[in-house]
Amino acid sequence: MPTTTRVFNFSAGPAVLPVPVLEQAQRDLVALPGVGMSVMEISHRSKVFEDLLAGAIANLRELAGVPLNYRILFLQGGASLQFSMVPMNLLKAGTAADYIDTGTWAVKAIEEARRVGTVNVTGSTKADKYTRIPAQSELHLTPGASYVHLTSNNTIEGTEWKAMPDVGNVPLVADASSDILSAPIDVSRFGVIYAGAQKNLGPSGVTLVIIREDLLEQSDKNLPTMLSYKVQAENNSLYNTPNTFGVYIFGLVMQWLKSLGGLAAIARLNQRKAAMLYSEIDRTGFYRGTAQVESRSMMNITFRLPSEELEKTFDRQASAAGFDGLKGHRSVGGLRASVYNAFPEEGVAGLVDFMREFERTHG
Ligand code: PMP
Repeated sequence: MPTTTRVFNFSAGPAVLPVPVLEQAQRDLVALPGVGMSVMEISHRSKVFEDLLAGAIANLRELAGVPLNYRILFLQGGASLQFSMVPMNLLKAGTAADYIDTGTWAVKAIEEARRVGTVNVTGSTKADKYTRIPAQSELHLTPGASYVHLTSNNTIEGTEWKAMPDVGNVPLVADASSDILSAPIDVSRFGVIYAGAQKNLGPSGVTLVIIREDLLEQSDKNLPTMLSYKVQAENNSLYNTPNTFGVYIFGLVMQWLKSLGGLAAIARLNQRKAAMLYSEIDRTGFYRGTAQVESRSMMNITFRLPSEELEKTFDRQASAAGFDGLKGHRSVGGLRASVYNAFPEEGVAGLVDFMREFERTHG
């Protein structure tokens, strides 16, 4: 294949970006129109960058209906640093934070929060090997907790919350790294939403944080400056040099999402793509979905074949046929098709054809 031909990239992240975004970035790479420099070469304090940042924020606000009493921040350190920043800023002395344990990334969030303060794991599906999301009735929320943390989509296990739990007046904090902007979202239900950009938003190295303004007052003034939400918000994410290129790509992704008709339209597309794959997985029993049906993710579709040997062969042959990145996470094995917003529908149709043919020849 010519070296510039694109494969169908099923990687869990960094993941496929929209082709129009890449093309625009390519056009702008040497010199932004009218600026004479690339976005990587201009000051983050310049009017040009400030406009890019403001545009990215405004477009996200419009797309996701982010209310005016929420701040939008672009930080660094990945979603993993948020595992620490959330408790450092929001876990009040003398109280506990509730965490819902739905998989590998939830466990990492819990481990980091425990370094900061008291954590109650108020629901877990570990006993079911994380194949499902817990029901509201299984959650034992702590009265007066500082916040409730959950992972809205479990990238590794392929499960997704279909509706947010009722947590009363306690702020809900969501790690939405792998399903942010995949469907309409009611931001007002959350205290904080955070996501590493490298799945649905842009390149790695920029982390989106959407935080309710009143929570900023909880950041202790003795926190390390860079780790304070309050400082980051007061400085509009420009306390230090942000990932300027990442923010620029993020802005282009927002424009692309708007051009598709917004989050309701993208959700319909995502539902269609996921349904095509799940119906093929369920068709005969040769493939076996690992998540329980009512908890299945629209973004990360995890499945197994009758043997690990066949899984290896499948992955190898699929790669050779231009379907890349299907190997499941090393911690769980199996196969995983990540079909984020930018993953094209024809790639899903192609994989379904490949799966049929593979079953016919190996089933
Ligand atoms: N949370 C979830 C749900 C993830 O999928 C990931 C990355 N795959 C992370 C957190 C960690 O993100 P980062 O690499 O940006 O720290």
